[in-house]
Amino acid sequence: MAKLKHVLVISFPAQGHVIPLLKLSHCIADHGVKVTFVNAEFIHAQVMAANPGLDNESHRIKFVAIPDGLISYEERKDPIKMLDSMSRVMPGHLQELIEKVKQSNGIEDEQISFLIADVMVGWALEVAERMGIQRATFCAPSVSGVVLALHIPKLIEGGVIDNNGFVLKNDLIRISKDLRSYKSSDLVWSCPEDPATQKAIFKCLSSAAHYSKFSNLVLCNSFHELEASAFSAIPGALAIGPLIASAQLFQCRGSLRKEDSTCLNWLDQHPALSVIYVAFGSTTVFGPEQFYEIAYGLEQATQPFLWVIRPDITDGAVSEFLDGFLQRVRNYGKVVQWAPQEEVLAHPSVACFFTHCGWNSTLEGLSNGVPLLCRPYFTDQFLNKSLICDVWKVGLGVDSDENGLISRHEVREKVSAVLGSDEIRANCLRVKEMARKSISEGGSSLKNLQSFIELVKA
Ligand code: UDP
Repeated sequence: MAKLKHVLVISFPAQGHVIPLLKLSHCIADHGVKVTFVNAEFIHAQVMAANPGLDNESHRIKFVAIPDGLISYEERKDPIKMLDSMSRVMPGHLQELIEKVKQSNGIEDEQISFLIADVMVGWALEVAERMGIQRATFCAPSVSGVVLALHIPKLIEGGVIDNNGFVLKNDLIRISKDLRSYKSSDLVWSCPEDPATQKAIFKCLSSAAHYSKFSNLVLCNSFHELEASAFSAIPGALAIGPLIASAQLFQCRGSLRKEDSTCLNWLDQHPALSVIYVAFGSTTVFGPEQFYEIAYGLEQATQPFLWVIRPDITDGAVSEFLDGFLQRVRNYGKVVQWAPQEEVLAHPSVACFFTHCGWNSTLEGLSNGVPLLCRPYFTDQFLNKSLICDVWKVGLGVDSDENGLISRHEVREKVSAVLGSDEIRANCLRVKEMARKSISEGGSSLKNLQSFIELVKA
């Protein structure tokens, strides 16, 4: 009997990586290939707790956890400690896992033939190469962002940045003549408020550049028509996005928190294109002052809004304020701790998306033709904002004042500007159409995905 093909997928332990990699895993499993999805233990536990539906997938996708060498939440809050421990401890556990499957091969008949590693866990590619397993890198960020990461050695060599990623020359950055120049504020490791995190992320991305030599296939969650010149700057880059959750996957997309679906009924009660959806991803944190300004801005815009307020979205106590706020906006505002975001963005009542510009949120907004209001917070979000506002022209930036705060006035003004812009809406519909085409029969991304799966099955 023919052996089952078996792909091992290893994720970086963060929300914005688990969701797209799980979508890719489903696409592969749909073609009769067995998938083992590997995650760090702490995040595996969160995924399994928040997605009971994943148990039904166990015959197609097996979820496996390996230790990251850390024991507490406090330790993991230190990005340097976390990234360092992961790269020291996890490769050994990964190798053990692969060897175990090898030994049980006679019984289970499921030799691992391919490994897909998130670009942030490039060390997994080295393990796979050592063990004679074919491999591909998966990039969760935009291709334009990956280009920057892969060119880190050249940027250091050219004196554009120092060895820790800090900018030395404030000029436009030119990678190649075919590629639009980057602003120095677009560097994808930027964390203006937290130099320690910046150093850690820069180190991790530098090692992505180093490990890229272990794989000549780079799977990108984007589509060619959106970032054509960036694709041409990465040899072996294959556009397979936007990866979209199928209706069957909506219930178990790999969220780390329980999704509150009551907001869908609430959206049903609103007219088409009337609701502002506000969500800043899984890690953005605001000081209380910024939080109040956004709240007052939404309150004064008097437009219906749905706001995702994670319990950890502020670093201060805001519950008293929130009680009064919710009381005042009860006729037009809805707050949830975590939303089924892709379903929300696909809902006809959503008129715009106030976002932190994480790449998944950006793609989800683009794929649904929703105009974006951009408030980037760190890393690739600044570059994504530039692409959204300056290149694709599908949204507007929400700018800070001289105190570094986005004022309530700015929120109100930009909401009204984005809702009133026919040009932005037309561009959104055009990009949505391109995105849908790329993943429809005969589309560029679907063809690439199909040929990748054929390669895995060969
Ligand atoms: N998300 C969600 N519900 C929420 C907020 C976010 O399901 O209430 C999902 C969103 O659909 C996206 C992911 O979380 O797939 C966030 O990824 P992104 O790259 O946008 O931001 P990050 O969390 O990595 O900063």
